[in-house]
Parts: sequence; C-alpha cells; structure tokens
Amino acid sequence: MCVVGIGPAIQCAGERSVLVTIHVQAESPATCPALVLNADFRPLSYYPLSIWCWQDAIKAVFLDRVNIVSQYDTLVRSPSFEMRLPSVVSLKSYVKPSRFPAFTRFNVFLRDRFTCQYCGDRDDLTFDHVIPRSKGGVTSWENVVAACSCCNLRKADLLPSVARMWPACEPYQPTVHDLHQNGRLFPPNYLHSSWMDYLYWDSELEP
Ligand SMILES: [Zn+2]
Repeated sequence: MCVVGIGPAIQCAGERSVLVTIHVQAESPATCPALVLNADFRPLSYYPLSIWCWQDAIKAVFLDRVNIVSQYDTLVRSPSFEMRLPSVVSLKSYVKPSRFPAFTRFNVFLRDRFTCQYCGDRDDLTFDHVIPRSKGGVTSWENVVAACSCCNLRKADLLPSVARMWPACEPYQPTVHDLHQNGRLFPPNYLHSSWMDYLYWDSELEP
C-alpha cells in the first residue's frame, strides 16, 4: 500500500478546506485515468481523448461537479472516507462544445489525418503553405497543409501550378465534428474496458 497526497487541499462545496491523505491499494493510481463525459454522456473530445488523472477526478467528485459513472477496482482511503477510483465520470453541468477548433499544428495534422497532402506519406510531417508566404500566402486553415519534409523541400516557395504539386484535399477550416471523426481513426494507446460504451471507435479497431 502506498500513501499519496492529492494536492494541498480539496476545496469542498461549502468553501471548507480539507486536507486529505489518501492510501491507494494495489494497482498504481497512475494507471487509473478517468474518462470525462459531458452531461449528455458524450466524451468532451475524442482526440486528444478527454481524460483526467485520478487526482483531478476525485477532486471533481468532492466538488460535486461530476457523477461517477463507472469505477476501477482500485481503492483509495483516507481516515474519513473510502472509495474506488472513478474510471468514467460525467459532468453535472453541460458544457457547450465549440463549433470550430483552434488553429493549431496538431489540429492541422489531425484534419489532414497525419498524411502528407502531396504524396500520402506519414513520416516526417511538416507544414506547407500552398500559396507560399513569399507570394502573399497567409498562415490560415485555408492555406496550410500537412506535407512531408521531402515534398516541402521539393515545392519550396513555388506556386502549386509551377511546382505542379496540388494538395490531395483543398485545405479548409474544419469543424470540431470533423476533427472528432478523424480522431476516431487514431485512438490513444490506453482504453479502459469501462470506456468502451462511451466511445464509438470504428469497429475494426482492436479492443
Ligand atoms: Zn510528401
């Protein structure tokens, strides 16, 4: 049995601070993340998957912000309480998902399914401005695509018509839904069995 402190204090609903020392049995708690569902029981996001470390999950339980949907066998104990670590929690208040995702490197790769838009390669991905910046191209969803470093070098700062290289899909601003769809193709390595009912991965993927 190991002893783990979970942060300096847990702030309870009544603004009362409680110092808690938690004893964790058996399995390392590090292997017990909680899947976080919205109040409508959908995952907050598919990729990166919405998961919390067990400490955050327990804090949220104490703050009365989540319902416990499913639990691990791993037990945590303090002098005043004992509980099994949550494996699935659902928010009590619905969080309205935003329609458009942030324009980030990761999300551009995810939109393009981690595939070079010129040759289909998946290794050594970089970003390419379809209209080069030197020709007035801007850094936006509509002008940036995933490209392997070979294609990026080959295209250099040429226009597609000069380089005779066009992206497989015309770049566009994706919705969160688009990225969720693509995220299902790239599940994370760790999926607990209790999460399966809430994740709609493609059926051909291994459990
Ligand atoms: Zn390429």
